[in-house]
Amino acid sequence: MPGPVSSILDRLGSRPAWVTAVDLILVYYLIYRALLTIRGTRAAQMVVGIVLVGAGFYAARRLELTAVSWLLDNVINYLILIVIVVFQADIRRALGRLGQGVIPRSRAGDAGELIEEVAGAVAQLARARRGAIIVVERDADVAAFVEDATRLDARLTRQLLVTLFVPTADNELHDGAVVIGKSRRIELARALLPLSKATGLGPELGTRHRAALGITEDTDAVAVVVSEERGQVSVCYRGHLAADLDAQTLRRALHDLFGGGAREAEAAAEIGSAVASLGARERAAEGP
Ligand code: ATP
Ligand code: MG
Repeated sequence: MPGPVSSILDRLGSRPAWVTAVDLILVYYLIYRALLTIRGTRAAQMVVGIVLVGAGFYAARRLELTAVSWLLDNVINYLILIVIVVFQADIRRALGRLGQGVIPRSRAGDAGELIEEVAGAVAQLARARRGAIIVVERDADVAAFVEDATRLDARLTRQLLVTLFVPTADNELHDGAVVIGKSRRIELARALLPLSKATGLGPELGTRHRAALGITEDTDAVAVVVSEERGQVSVCYRGHLAADLDAQTLRRALHDLFGGGAREAEAAAEIGSAVASLGARERAAEGP
């Protein structure tokens, strides 16, 4: 019987058995991972829809309903295009995540300056009770996950960080987050971040905190949040939030996450906070 299945079987027959086995296991694994990934999401409903169209197409062919099968044939031809359009954001995220582990971390320059400027600005923002999110990029490209932003590419200084969050009508950049790139420059301002969908967060964590948490679920970036309502400082990393940090703990957490070298281990040994344990956990996962 000519057809896709028998042509696959033909090709399988002409190769060593182990190649076939590896091939089939890989296909099995990829389909399994894809199903796990989309379970409970919009994509799962889409897959059900696609399967229904496929089943309808097959039934229409068998019953020789020419017009119906013509219609479904055309739908199937455009299916790949439809899937790409509907899922462009999800595809971008999935590919971004795939790349994260592959490219080795580039520790650009000295972390000392980064920590000084960020911690200094955060302390000042907290004193003034100015709402702020400062995202510091690690490996993943944060810009790919940001809905909208203004590109700055400015030198990182605490004065500029503080100024960017001054909430006046003339300062169009004060809303949203500031993103510090791998180059340790201020890359973006007014960045609209993806909101976390985590449940049970507590009423004090509004959209600002959800946005900070959200970007750390999609990327390996670190997000520092200053609460406008309470003047509190929180740090988000890998989808976790450590709330109400004092200046000392924030500095150490940043050291732990960006410092590198011998002092990194020293700082980690001293910190008892939640973020410290997050940093340590990641180092353990990365190995020595
Ligand atoms: P706070 O403790 O400062 O009140 P909150 O967690 O209660 O923070 P909101 O009071 O809802 O959050 O804060 C609203 C502000 O959060 C907005 O003015 C905006 O600057 C910021 N914000 C809201 N959504 C986003 C987003 N998607 N990305 C970045 N910033 C956002
Ligand atoms: Mg609020």
